[in-house]
Amino acid sequence: MNTVAIVRDPIYLKHSNGPMHPEGPERLVTIDRMLSEFPLKAQLGDVPPRDATFEELAWIHEEAYIRRIESTKYSRFTVLDPDTSATSDSYAAAIRAAGGMMEATEAVLSGRFPAAFAFVRPPGHHAEAGQAKGFCLFNNIAIAAAYALRRHDLKRVLIVDWDVHHGNGTMHSFYDTKEVLYFSAHQYPHYPGTGRIDEIGWNQGQGYTINIPLYGGQGDQDYLYIFREILVPVAREYAPELILVSAGFDTHRNDPLAGMAMTSGAYGRLTGILRELTEECCPGRLALALEGGYDHNALTEGVAAVLRNLIDDRTRERDDVAGEETTTVAADGETRLVVQEVRRLLSPYWKSLSIEAGA
Ligand SMILES: [Zn+2]
Repeated sequence: MNTVAIVRDPIYLKHSNGPMHPEGPERLVTIDRMLSEFPLKAQLGDVPPRDATFEELAWIHEEAYIRRIESTKYSRFTVLDPDTSATSDSYAAAIRAAGGMMEATEAVLSGRFPAAFAFVRPPGHHAEAGQAKGFCLFNNIAIAAAYALRRHDLKRVLIVDWDVHHGNGTMHSFYDTKEVLYFSAHQYPHYPGTGRIDEIGWNQGQGYTINIPLYGGQGDQDYLYIFREILVPVAREYAPELILVSAGFDTHRNDPLAGMAMTSGAYGRLTGILRELTEECCPGRLALALEGGYDHNALTEGVAAVLRNLIDDRTRERDDVAGEETTTVAADGETRLVVQEVRRLLSPYWKSLSIEAGA
C-alpha cells in the first residue's frame, strides 16, 4: 500500500464560467463525494495548497496578462474568451490552482509522498502566455514544471497529457527547450486546433514535443498501444527526473465534449504504465493535475481508477493483466498509421523509435 498526496481547497469551487457551463464547480464536488466514500481513503494524505506568487506565474505568463486576470477580481463576471470567464473569485482560485500543483510537485520531489494528485480548477493546459483559453486561466502544469526546473534545478521533466484536447499552452511554453518533454495524445482535428503530428518542437527543443493526433473513436487498446509503442521507449531514453500528468477524463466514451471511446478502467492501466516508468526513471516522483472531464460519473470513476492503481499493488497487478489482455485486441488501423508516422518523424531524435528498434 502506498500513500498518495492529494490537493484540495474550497476556493476551487468558487471559480465559475457561468451557469450551465460544463466546466463547473460540481466537477470537484462529485470528486470530493467519491473521495469521502473511497475504500482506500486512509491512504490519501491531504497536502494544503498555497497561492502562486507573481514571480512564479511570470515564469510562464506575460506580466500584463497576469495583471489582466488579477483585475477580474473587481468585477462580478468577466468574459475572457468565447468559452472562458471569471468571477470575482476566479483569480484567487487560479493562483491557488497553480500553487496547488506546485505543492503536489513539491510533495513528491521532497520525498514526502511517492505520488500526488492535485484536484484543482480552473484547469490549465490551454492557458497561453498571454491568453485565457478553453476554460483555463493559468497553466498549472507548466508552472509546476517550471518550478521543478528552477527551484529544484531539474534538467528533464516529462509531461504526459492524456486529456482529449491538445494542451496548446503547455506545448508552447516549452516548445524550444529539451528540459521538458511534452507528450500528448488528443482528438484532432478538434479544439483547440493545435497538436499536429509535425509539431515536434523548435531549435533546442526539436524532438521534445510529441503529438499523437487521433480522429476520434479510439479506445483503451489504442491508448495502451500508443503509450507502449511511443511514450515508454522515448521516456526511457529521455530518463526524466520527474513525471507530471495533465489528467483529463474527457477521453471517456461518455464525455459530452469529445468523441473518444475509453472506459474508466483504462485510466488505471495508463497510470500503471506511468507508475512503472516513474519507478524506473525517477522513483516516487509522479504528480498529476486535473484537467478536463465533463461526464461526472466518468470523471469520478476515472479518478478512482487512477488512485486505486497508485495506492494498491494488487490493483496494479490486475490492471497490468487487463492491459495485456486489452492490447491483444489490435489497436485500430488509423492508430497504427499515426504511430508509424510519429516513428518516422521522431526517429532522428530518438534511437528507440528507429525502425530497427521497433517491433
Ligand atoms: Zn479536455
